Amino acid sequence: MEQQQNLFSEIFVNYEINAYSPKKKFIYGNNDKAKRICKYCGKTIKTGATFNEVAHAIPESLGNKTIISADECDSCNDKFSKTIDLDIFEYLKLFRVLYGKKGKKGVPKLKFKNGTEISHNGTNAIIIQRTNDTANNINFSNENFKIPLEFSKDINFMNIYRALVKYVMAVIPNKEIPNFSRTIEWIMDIKNDGTLLELPAIAAKIDFQNYHDQPMFMIYRRKNENDSLPYMYAEIRITTMIFVFIIPFCRKDTINFSKKDNFDIFWKFNKHYAHFTDWTFNNFNVDVEKHTIMNMQMNKKST
Ligand SMILES: [Zn+2]
Repeated sequence: MEQQQNLFSEIFVNYEINAYSPKKKFIYGNNDKAKRICKYCGKTIKTGATFNEVAHAIPESLGNKTIISADECDSCNDKFSKTIDLDIFEYLKLFRVLYGKKGKKGVPKLKFKNGTEISHNGTNAIIIQRTNDTANNINFSNENFKIPLEFSKDINFMNIYRALVKYVMAVIPNKEIPNFSRTIEWIMDIKNDGTLLELPAIAAKIDFQNYHDQPMFMIYRRKNENDSLPYMYAEIRITTMIFVFIIPFCRKDTINFSKKDNFDIFWKFNKHYAHFTDWTFNNFNVDVEKHTIMNMQMNKKST
């Protein structure tokens, strides 16, 4: 307990923390449709927006059933479902299948470009490698080997960053939105042309012990003027992945957290994260779809 307090004491001085993992359905934002302003395009019913669809703060395809966002118009909802939501879904669906999580059509069977198939029989994940894969140098008799998984859809990793940030925007109070006008411009303005932007690294790790079918997240909002630290950052636990990321382009920030020295100060400040060494720090700063191969490391179970 005391150790816990030491890990968090600095954070509590500087940040207000809100956790989102409702067991019951909760609608964030304005219940009255007539008063809604879309957080992303700024439109209201009077200026042509419609709010007929239920906008999930995080898509249902990623397991979210309860966190609903009111202030998202149908047109923006549709745009996200055809762009950024697809990239993050493609990236994470492997974990959903490994854990046998059902979608609308049962547990999906994944087929990768290089022939590997992954499915689930209700108890175990089944991985089928049809060809004797000499090209990829896999020797199944080895104790440990890697299976390369060649994604059938090219992934825009900046869109994964955009999606994570959009999920945060979906639940923060409307009065915070003006601080993030540039952030929202960036979320909306998908170029997919190789544009390189200065974005902070995204810390990620896989926690195979804890699977989150319903995504949960924590949002940290700085409550003082200590601008050596970012105004807002978040932790999202989704499937077996944990992402920790700074909300970029915030008006309240004066420091560039894409610079390693500045990011390191932020990371060391978060003792409860920095305490663990198995994080990877990812640069999702190129706005382009990339051919993606993920290597799955297989280790023989010790008996
Ligand atoms: Zn909109």
